[in-house]
Amino acid sequence: MTTVKEKTILIADDDPSSTLLAEAALADAGFRVLVANGGEEALRQFEAHRPDCLVLDVMMPDLSGFDVCRRVRARPDGRRVPILMLTNLSDHASISESYNVGASDFTQKDKHPRLLVERVRFLLRDRDLEDELVTSQARLEQAQRIARVGHWELGVDGTSLAVSPLVGELFGLTSGKLASYADFLARLAPEDAAETRAAFRACAEAGIEYSRDHRMEDCSGSAVVLHQQAQRLPRSGESGGPVILVTLQDITRLQRAEDTARTLMYTDVATRLPNRRYFAESIEVALSGPEGGEHTVVIAVRVQNLDRAVAAHGEGFGNALLASVAKRIVDAITIFAATRFVRDDAVIPTVARIAGDELGILLKGGPLVAQMATATASMLSVVSRPLVCLGIEYVPVASAGIAVAAHDGTDADSLISYAHIAANQSADVGGYSFYSEQLQTLSRRRLSLESDLRLAVERDQLDLVFQPRVMLAGHRLVSVEALLRWQHPELGSVSPAEFIPIAEQSALIGDIGRWVLARACEQLTRWRAAGLSGFGVAVNLSPRQLADKDLPRAVHAALVHARLPAQALELEITETCVVAAGEDARRRLDELRASGVQVALDDFGTGYSSLGQIRRLPVDCLKLDRSLIADLRLDRGAQGIVAAVFAMARTLGVRSCAEGVGDAETLRMLTDLGCDEVQGYYVCKPLDAAALATWIGRGGADSLLAAAAAATSEDSVPTTEPLTAPGTA
Ligand code: C2E
Ligand code: MG
Ligand code: MG
Repeated sequence: MTTVKEKTILIADDDPSSTLLAEAALADAGFRVLVANGGEEALRQFEAHRPDCLVLDVMMPDLSGFDVCRRVRARPDGRRVPILMLTNLSDHASISESYNVGASDFTQKDKHPRLLVERVRFLLRDRDLEDELVTSQARLEQAQRIARVGHWELGVDGTSLAVSPLVGELFGLTSGKLASYADFLARLAPEDAAETRAAFRACAEAGIEYSRDHRMEDCSGSAVVLHQQAQRLPRSGESGGPVILVTLQDITRLQRAEDTARTLMYTDVATRLPNRRYFAESIEVALSGPEGGEHTVVIAVRVQNLDRAVAAHGEGFGNALLASVAKRIVDAITIFAATRFVRDDAVIPTVARIAGDELGILLKGGPLVAQMATATASMLSVVSRPLVCLGIEYVPVASAGIAVAAHDGTDADSLISYAHIAANQSADVGGYSFYSEQLQTLSRRRLSLESDLRLAVERDQLDLVFQPRVMLAGHRLVSVEALLRWQHPELGSVSPAEFIPIAEQSALIGDIGRWVLARACEQLTRWRAAGLSGFGVAVNLSPRQLADKDLPRAVHAALVHARLPAQALELEITETCVVAAGEDARRRLDELRASGVQVALDDFGTGYSSLGQIRRLPVDCLKLDRSLIADLRLDRGAQGIVAAVFAMARTLGVRSCAEGVGDAETLRMLTDLGCDEVQGYYVCKPLDAAALATWIGRGGADSLLAAAAAATSEDSVPTTEPLTAPGTA
């Protein structure tokens, strides 16, 4: 801002005496003063010096003050410069002419020069204020433009009184074209327009403020979102009725950001499926609907072995697989509904990702819910068909759990967790089950076992027992199978059949498996040192251990540590585990076998693998599951199957072993049928290390097997020599 000292005042007057007085007074007040003797010269000086204020005598011979004023005003740089006219006070015509030609003010000529100075000061201050106003208005407009806000002043009848340029810009119109609020309403969707009109009326008549969002098109046809806020105010300054001040803001970008945030909040980014939050909220909406709990069912679908699929083919594959399964579920249920003549929008199920390997399905509507069991079964059968995902052929296995709102829970979270519990329950069979109280108790026990199991290893609660496996021909002790025991401080002894699957699912099996391997090998070394030799040790492997690429290294570390040859160790794996584990796991087994470690196929007869598949499996021994052996005495069909398996094993050069031999009769029949080895309570129950040493010291199974052999008819003695068994090394 300029100071008084820097301001330049141009005085134009042809009368030197009055000029002299004025000049002296102004210079005295600190102004720089220029003097022109006439109108023409005044214009020249203006051109040359751009003074801050002009003082013009009305009467000058060459060019009158009016003419000078008019010509200065005609210039772009002269429009806002203060111009003070010197007139005679009684000359009314001159005063009015002064205003006509654009002068800022007038004063009486030759009056006290101090008065002139005050007038000039006043005009300059006024001009400064005006400048500031113009600047701040420009700034405000700029800020509004950046914030995309505009304001609009309307009469209560909706006529436009004042409008900021941005309001016009928002609609691609010059603001002048927005003659009334009706122009704005005409651009809204009919329903929005009607409601907004009513809101405006209420604001005009009763002063009720309103704010609304409008989705509309701008002049280029792009979708925009405008936020409107309106209030009634008294008209400023002059008289007249109140005005309605409307502010309009373009919130398209904000809205888009909000939409994106909302999408992210409700989407599982990896699969692009709705997420658990979305699922839970959808359930709450269904529950609060008119039919509510009566017609709401939540199904959890667990895709089994997803972690192994991810380990083998990567995260992307796992996500794509889940997305494909979700699509199959939607298709299957929609088709199911269509073929059952359920014609209702509600049949399109909501399918969301509710956990790493779990999808949730929300079924609504009476007709479909009534058939939920059949719908689930049919959906599962579609899901488990082979598919090609990211170029990889895969057969998904899924199990489902069903929770029915009216029975099982009244809020979304309970329904989801009940369905999850039921899905876990049916995980082993690949089918579906309904949630029940009993399941919840089981699931609680499962949870507490899982957390306790973490501490079991370090707190020394785990132990191994050993069950002998004996060769029928020659009665030799072939090996002992290491079996885990857990002495839980409160629950007592917990069966491995219960805690091994928990360890497997929670990945605790890694630590536990390594512990078993090391402990079993160390024990064998101890026995050998005590003079008990000629037999090996067998260790059970879980699917996760088999899938671990470090398995061969861990096995060799245990052997080296115990100073045992590889031939002393046998690994037991189940057929489902080896079939599911894929090529990499098979290569690991081949590698282990090549180093001398033996591999036995455990629980044979409980899985689904065909005999043809068994032929390709890298194993040295087939262990027939005790469920097959238990039926032997009573079921002739079972005898046929078992005999065929023994024959096949011989053809393949694989040893056969019967598990769960529980009585003398079964033992005799197995000898008849040409079984190589036996294991079971009748031979010997699992024993701790010391008890096993005593058992061996007392002759082991000798007397028992000798009796069985004696009871066996002469012609049924095995016709071929027994195959080589482990432990002899
Ligand atoms: P498995 O490997 O098939 O072990 C044989 C199971 O049958 C053992 O049960 C054994 O005590 C039992 N058994 C043996 N003879 C008879 C009999 O004549 N009658 C009856 N009713 N049962 C008999 P256990 O010790 O409860 O182990 C159950 C399963 O837990 C094992 O089946 C195995 O799959 C698993 N398991 C045990 N220890 C381990 C381990 O260290 N690691 C892994 N991954 N799994 C283990
Ligand atoms: Mg076993
Ligand atoms: Mg077994």
